[in-house]
Amino acid sequence: MERPPIITLDGPAGSGKSTTAREVARRLGFRHLDSGALYRALTFALLSAGIREEEWPLLPQEAFDRFRIWLRPSGPRFQVLLGDRLLEEELRTPEVTARVSPLSALPAVRAWLLEAQRQAGREGALVADGRDMGTVVFPDAEVKIFLTADLKERAFRRFLERQDRRPSEEELEEEARNIRERDERDSSRSVAPLKKAEGAMEVDTSDLTFEAQVGVIINHVKVLTRG
Ligand code: C5P
Repeated sequence: MERPPIITLDGPAGSGKSTTAREVARRLGFRHLDSGALYRALTFALLSAGIREEEWPLLPQEAFDRFRIWLRPSGPRFQVLLGDRLLEEELRTPEVTARVSPLSALPAVRAWLLEAQRQAGREGALVADGRDMGTVVFPDAEVKIFLTADLKERAFRRFLERQDRRPSEEELEEEARNIRERDERDSSRSVAPLKKAEGAMEVDTSDLTFEAQVGVIINHVKVLTRG
């Protein structure tokens, strides 16, 4: 029997991939994989181990094994663990966010994390979000989505994720600068750059309510996967 579908959601930072993917997964009864959390976990592990950033590009794949980073299925999501430590807020600190993109550009890192991600999709029924879900990790996914939004809108959303108030004009500009820098790095790297997968549906969420954007995706999934 064929496995249940895999749905991929790729896009730039702050486009709402993770929250959207989580809700789409919930409605379909699928599990959600936030692949960015794996790259963040490795960044966190390297920083915690005190390994200097200049050394990161020199590390062979096997050097990452000692961290024992793994995905644990847990209800509607995959938790990311470092040995037996569950990682949550420590993945979203500014220190990790500022260093994750250069780390993700390293071929050894991408190769090392590939298998764990593919394992998560082995039985299908998965909504996976990231940068290369539809292009590299799950090229045969039944449904591929590319989420975008204006830079300003993305900066605004990212700020609100961390703080409970509206940003000032300067804060918004700084957030936008950081996001633009990360997108440029993610899009220009030679291995698995951020780009729209062939056959992906592009959804610009700048002027869509959350409900509307989830609705558009769910409809697209129904059209493509109806037996
Ligand atoms: O999605 P999130 O913002 O948590 O991703 C953090 C970083 O991890 C991205 O900026 C990107 O450099 C990297 N990443 C990646 N490939 C993925 C997911 C994330 O390179 N599939």
